Order: sequence, then structure tokens, then C-alpha cells
Amino acid sequence: MDNCLFCKIVEGSIPSKKVYEDDKFLVFHDIQPAAPVHVLIIPKKHIASMNEVGSEDFALIGEMHRIAQNVARELGIAENGYRLINNCGPDSGQAVAHIHYHLLGGAKLGALVQ
Ligand code: C5P
Repeated sequence: MDNCLFCKIVEGSIPSKKVYEDDKFLVFHDIQPAAPVHVLIIPKKHIASMNEVGSEDFALIGEMHRIAQNVARELGIAENGYRLINNCGPDSGQAVAHIHYHLLGGAKLGALVQ
């Protein structure tokens, strides 16, 4: 997808600190970490947001959870726990229109809604 920041990261034209890659997914460190461990899990397929996930993508989205589980283990945050977040649309603060999960951990995380 032209002009999509995360598609450019997938292509390699924008650099990233990769944690995991396979034919369908990429996981890389967030450039502005909000926790000691903060990585982004993205499918290589361009899907703008959770709203654009079609029934043909459900298996792919399911697989993203398997990737999150494995990466959490590899980064040493599985035991104490972590947060897996998807922002969708303006009210959530979604800044990049390529679906992604934030995987956050490595410290006691504050409540999202007070
Ligand atoms: O969910 P949201 O769209 O707000 O998150 C986008 C995330 O992408 C931000 O946490 C931002 O720090 C990260 N980002 C990045 N590398 C870039 C541009 C943005 O890790 N080159």
C-alpha cells in the first residue's frame, strides 16, 4: 500500500528493530516505548484497522495472537503478564492506518480507564 508507514517497514524502506518475522507477520520495537517491553505486531497484509478486517482475514488475526503469545515468552514477559492492545479509529488514538497490536509488559501497567 503506497504511503503506509508500516507497509514501508515491511518492505524495509523504513528501518525497524525487528523481533520476529515470517512470511505473514512482522514484530518490531516501538520507537516510542510506553513500557520496558513495547513491540508492535503487524500482519504484512495491509489492513487499515480492525474495522476493515474481513471474514477472509479472521484466521490471520487469530494467528496474530499466537505470535503475541510466542513473542511474550521470548521477551520474558509471559509469566508476569502483559497487555495486548489494538487501537481502532480516532477515539482510540490510532495514528498508523495499518492494523497492529501493541504488546506491552516488563512492569506493572497502569489502568487504562480511571
Ligand atoms: O496505535 P497507534 O496507531 O497509535 O500506534 C502507532 C505506534 O507506532 C506508536 O506507538 C508509535 O510510536 C509507533 N511507531 C513506530 N515506528 C514508526 C512510527 C510509529 O514504532 N516509524
